[in-house]
Amino acid sequence: MFKLIYKAIKKYDTIVIARHVGVDPDAMASQMALKEAILLTWPKKRVLAVGTGGSKFSYLGSLDKLEDVSFSESLLIVVDTPDKRRVDSPVIDEFAYKIKIDHHPFVENFCDIEFIDDQKSSACQLVLELLYRTKLKRNQSVIEKLFIGLVSDTNRFLFNSDSVVFSLVSKILSEYPLDIPHLYQQLYMRPLNEVRLQGYIEQNMKITDHGVGYVSLTADIISKFSADAGSAGNMVNNFNYIDEVLVWAMISEDKKNEIIKINIRSRGPVINTIAEKYHGGGHKFASGARVTTMEEAELLIHDLDRACKKYIEEMEGGKEK
Ligand code: AMP
Repeated sequence: MFKLIYKAIKKYDTIVIARHVGVDPDAMASQMALKEAILLTWPKKRVLAVGTGGSKFSYLGSLDKLEDVSFSESLLIVVDTPDKRRVDSPVIDEFAYKIKIDHHPFVENFCDIEFIDDQKSSACQLVLELLYRTKLKRNQSVIEKLFIGLVSDTNRFLFNSDSVVFSLVSKILSEYPLDIPHLYQQLYMRPLNEVRLQGYIEQNMKITDHGVGYVSLTADIISKFSADAGSAGNMVNNFNYIDEVLVWAMISEDKKNEIIKINIRSRGPVINTIAEKYHGGGHKFASGARVTTMEEAELLIHDLDRACKKYIEEMEGGKEK
């Protein structure tokens, strides 16, 4: 598989790299690092990293416009995205050849090469493996980006951090002297207003009977804290380890896009199958959904509560055996 991907990259002079909508550090870091690695290896190729960015991620580099591309002669690489509808590119099918590099559970086949491993921590881990298994070149900047994405998607080595992840990190650290405090600072610095919004969430989190912690953030509340729906939702990662909470969700109203985004996390019950019922998906314990009304959001919370109930009963049944 690695060789096939390398051969395809080598073959095309123009390569577009896309990732999912609602950019996050793993998606953007894997995209930008892969672009840099290809250009290091073949400086004459034209490589575009496309999609909507955000000032928050400017430390990862700037994105390109999808302009003057002869799609029928070009390669598309989609990172960190299991399904076509979530690819942040207006053009997909017109490309001559398409490669997917993803660590989400399989959703649909839409590329010529589908390199999927949902046991892997991050898209950045897959790109790292691609670099180590082929002749693609790397340098300090490429490795720093991949490290940032890996740290972000594992939530600082909390999720999916097996011996393979730690060996890879050991390998890159022996090769490149990473300034880890500086990289963490780039990833985790945030304005005071976001911390205050986090305080609001802590004060206002409701808990269902079976341990779903959730907060509804209307557009008014979000703007009161001078935040945006995206950064409000990203705070979902800060609510691990609450005794009373098994599953937690941030419900954020995004007026600009006329949707309500729900970021969900779990420390037990599987949640992606529930998110899928509400225009969402993701990983077993880290998922997202999109609805259009608060009533729908409440139905989702109700479904999550039922999943928690079932999970608690199964755990208690297991203990009795
Ligand atoms: P987030 O809470 O935005 O960090 O997303 C957690 C996981 O769920 C990521 O793997 C996302 O790609 C996935 N995800 C988020 N929203 C959606 C959605 N509407 N549809 C499918 N997958 C999603």
